[in-house]
Amino acid sequence: MDCLFCKIISGEVPAQVLRETERTLAFRDINPQAPVHVLVIPKVHVPNFAALAEHPETLAELAAEAAEVAKAEGVAESGYRVVFNTGTGAGQTVFHAHAHVLGGRGLNWPPG
Ligand code: 5GP
Ligand code: ZN
Repeated sequence: MDCLFCKIISGEVPAQVLRETERTLAFRDINPQAPVHVLVIPKVHVPNFAALAEHPETLAELAAEAAEVAKAEGVAESGYRVVFNTGTGAGQTVFHAHAHVLGGRGLNWPPG
């Protein structure tokens, strides 16, 4: 399967990996939209957030890892956002489920 994030998991495509667990990988987004912008992905290939519901242990580990990333990156106290873009209409461009962990200055909500 030609999947960019599966290639990052296998090491075929390099990434700035921050954390790894049995079921997840966390690495910096190549095009950060905030001072802290980390992607946390399941090692199992599922196309989107909805499909992650079929993997409850992975989903729980991914949530815990997103929180650990926020702590390690120093935004747990100031606040951060965890986003799953789901579907092209919401801006999903990579169809391997991933959580964006966004934090630091420059968070703008509501957008626009
Ligand atoms: P989406 O738009 O699907 O929610 O998010 C995909 C994210 O993957 C984007 O924020 C994009 O910058 C990031 N991305 C795309 N290609 C690469 C890559 O090769 N390496 C890394 N680290 N991030 C990538
Ligand atoms: Zn994949």
